[in-house]
Amino acid sequence: MKRLSDLLETSRVAEESVQRSYALFRWAVAFILVMVLCIVALESWRLAQDYQNAYTAAANSATNLTRAAAQQAEGAILQVDTLLFGVRERMEGDGLEHLDIARLQRLFTGQVAATPQLHGLYVFDEHGHWVVSDKAPMPQEVNVTDREYFLYHQQHVDRGLHIGPVFVSRSTGDQVIPLSRRIDHPDGSFAGVFVGTIDIRYFEDYYANFRVDAKGAFVLALRDGSVLVKHPVLEGGVSNSLANGEVYRNRLPYGPEGVIQMVSVVDNQPRLYGYKALHDLPLVMEAGISTESIVQGWTHDLFKTVVIVLVMLLGMGVFSYFFLQQLRSKIVMAEALQVAHTAVQDMAMRDGLTGLGNRRLLDRHLDDEVARARRSGLPLSLIMLDLDFFKRFNDHYGHYAGDECLRRVASALQATLHRPGDLAVRYGGEELAVLIPDTDAVGATVLVEQILDAIRALAIAHADSPFTQVTASAGLFVSTAVLGELTAAAMIQGADAALYKAKQNGRDQWFRGLAVED
Ligand code: GH3
Ligand code: MG
Ligand code: MG
Repeated sequence: MKRLSDLLETSRVAEESVQRSYALFRWAVAFILVMVLCIVALESWRLAQDYQNAYTAAANSATNLTRAAAQQAEGAILQVDTLLFGVRERMEGDGLEHLDIARLQRLFTGQVAATPQLHGLYVFDEHGHWVVSDKAPMPQEVNVTDREYFLYHQQHVDRGLHIGPVFVSRSTGDQVIPLSRRIDHPDGSFAGVFVGTIDIRYFEDYYANFRVDAKGAFVLALRDGSVLVKHPVLEGGVSNSLANGEVYRNRLPYGPEGVIQMVSVVDNQPRLYGYKALHDLPLVMEAGISTESIVQGWTHDLFKTVVIVLVMLLGMGVFSYFFLQQLRSKIVMAEALQVAHTAVQDMAMRDGLTGLGNRRLLDRHLDDEVARARRSGLPLSLIMLDLDFFKRFNDHYGHYAGDECLRRVASALQATLHRPGDLAVRYGGEELAVLIPDTDAVGATVLVEQILDAIRALAIAHADSPFTQVTASAGLFVSTAVLGELTAAAMIQGADAALYKAKQNGRDQWFRGLAVED
């Protein structure tokens, strides 16, 4: 008995353990998923943040670079223009034909020497012939009527500064940017051109001083898109145009300054460009930082992060796998244990011979039903059955036939019960019991008669019985359960006493025991 209660307890523990393991398994899976999501979300957020920061820093750098380069270009050009403006006024005052050539040349030479960006100063007359320059006298046949700046001034009366496209100096072979102003006769007609040239190397050297990444770039261009200087210098000279670039087409029309990520039309490199249209000069400065270099650190970080996260996830995966595997095998074991215990429990509560429940099962149910009846006030009935003259049956037909008889009686009894709550057990020996909840005396009476009839209907021959066949006697006890003192023991004693009465009254009949309140 001790061992049985241990088994039942273990079964309960196994059941609880299975439930706990299931819960643990679910929580573990949820926890692992949440952890994975958290790690991935956190790292993604951090990477996005870093990318944003890198981009912002690069945009600031591009803006600063552009502004610095634009200011330098503006300063260099305005300095030369101041000279052009002042000297032109004097030359116009004197008249081109009255110039003191030797003095002017000395002035020009001095200015070119003193002004680093100034490459040369030239005066040409209205026919494009050389008048004076900072260099040694040029041959008379030199003619600049084909130069853009000459044609421009010849055709435009405007006296402002003109910045022309880059050309190769005939005197030095250098690439230069011409800054020019028109010289007028006193009557306003075209008298010639005054040109100052700036060597593009002056700008290139300046741009080279900046610490920009290998693919960073500077471009100084005219407002019409013609490139004056680009750094680094690429194959194909400087004859490119920015006119079809994103900045010229879609940005400058709406604002003079900004930052844009685009692929350069000059060298097809993707860069983050700062751009600025100069306020007083028809020039546009662009400075670009290669997208590659912006994201380089970030990409490195991304790679590192991805590797670390993957390693972490892999570790977590391996750990989770073994942990969950462990948990699963625990569940499987607990389930197997539970099945085994259920089987044992079933065996412990069942009678091997008849297949009915046994006395233990009745005790358990009776306790529950008595408690329920006391709570609900519903009637509870118990029938005790005992085969008549069964010792004689055994003696006459043998113990084996006795067993068979018991089995048949048991199944006949079971067949009379139709409600799921009704319980038939073998109480011991050839004694059977039926517990019928929620059934009053009327219902129980009907049932007990049906049972005795069913046993009679089996018509099992019993030569040593006055009834010539196997019969049973029954004791019925019905509790209306109004009484607080109703107990399982009282019910069994009541039914037992009634059974004794039925035997006394001659067997093959039933007797209803009197409940206390009756
Ligand atoms: P009555 O109840 O009518 O007073 O007479 P009885 O012969 O049935 O009386 P008693 O209860 O004294 O005898 C019970 C008999 O039931 C004793 C035993 O031979 C028999 N018996 C009890 N358990 C089993 C069993 O498992 N198998 C078989 N074959 N016989 C059993
Ligand atoms: Mg008996
Ligand atoms: Mg008997």
